[in-house]
Amino acid sequence: MRKVALLVMLMVAIPVFSLSTPAHSGQDRIQAIIEAVDTDELYRYDRTIQDFGPHPTGSEACRAVASFIYDEFQSYGLEVSYEPWEAAGLSSRNVVATLPGETNFAVIISAHYDSVEVSPGADDDGSGVSCVLMAARILSQYRFRHTIRFVAFSGEEQGLYGSAHHARQAYLADEYILADLQLDGVGHAESSQGGSTIRLCAEGASTWITDVAQEVLDIYGQNIDLSIHRNRNFPGSDHQSFLNYGYEGVFFLEYEFNPYYHSAQDTIEHVNFSYLTKVCKLATATLATIADREVSIYLRLVEPERGALYLGSRKLMVLDSHRTMVLGQTLARAQIYTQEDISRVEFYFDGRLRGIAEGQPYEHTYTKLSLFNHVVTAVAHGRQSQDSNELTVAMYNLAPGNWLD
Ligand SMILES: [Zn+2]
Repeated sequence: MRKVALLVMLMVAIPVFSLSTPAHSGQDRIQAIIEAVDTDELYRYDRTIQDFGPHPTGSEACRAVASFIYDEFQSYGLEVSYEPWEAAGLSSRNVVATLPGETNFAVIISAHYDSVEVSPGADDDGSGVSCVLMAARILSQYRFRHTIRFVAFSGEEQGLYGSAHHARQAYLADEYILADLQLDGVGHAESSQGGSTIRLCAEGASTWITDVAQEVLDIYGQNIDLSIHRNRNFPGSDHQSFLNYGYEGVFFLEYEFNPYYHSAQDTIEHVNFSYLTKVCKLATATLATIADREVSIYLRLVEPERGALYLGSRKLMVLDSHRTMVLGQTLARAQIYTQEDISRVEFYFDGRLRGIAEGQPYEHTYTKLSLFNHVVTAVAHGRQSQDSNELTVAMYNLAPGNWLD
């Protein structure tokens, strides 16, 4: 009897489920996502956030903003959780919503929901949080190859504390994060140039994310009306926490400086919602594109670990930061996820090729005299593509294996 009932339920449930999954695929799907970005809804989000008044980390208003974000995420049918963190005498919670994918990879869109002491934070960063909510609302209606995480951090204004915790936990859990798209101050524009330009701050290994955003504009630009101003990386927002742990990320930032920044006048009246809508379209479409992209090679430097102190290849202790220090010779080891044959992995120290590994284990020991910071880079070469990862290590090796360079 129960079996029959279950079968009937399944027969009813399956068609309903497939009807509720949008039929769009590929380009149609991205187009539909762009069109779904809604200015009135962005206004409602940002208005709600600023109406809580100034909401610095630790305040009652900050907790109220967090629960507003939590409830919104939940109403879209996403898995939602609070992620508590403590740092520098502060304690607070990030709000994390997850849309599970089919692979072990994740893509993140993020913003910070705390404000400074005096400011209602409509632009900094109510604008970014509004975009994250909008992306969550729209993308929750679709399914993607990779997992998407929608994250609102706190503790940004005091020192990127919420995101530092999140990135560290992800790193310690061996998470494969493809990219973090951080939006912080994306609602201010006065001139026509300001209203049609977005800064994408990225450099080095993260510039491919800007390239994807540019591809989105090349195809759908007429529906977005925005151009990208490529900036070198500015470390002043939460994407930096991901970079610190060896992940890749970009920082979306308004083109014109906001004169109301960190003041009591950072209110909804000074947010340009047609500009915010454009930025939200670009960020959401870029996120969706990355979330469906196949990953050919994904390389991570796993030794030495970030945030640890080593004596040679032996880990002595875990440090309370992302920094890495090695006393003696440095063993660099790469771990690779790949869909291609790997022909070789190259190891560079301060940009100079020092070792090549043609098979497992992909590692190289650096034996030269070293003092202070050095940059270790590993590059995996497949047949069609390559991937690299970089790590800055404070190396102190006063008894080198070979004094000559
Ligand atoms: Zn900010």
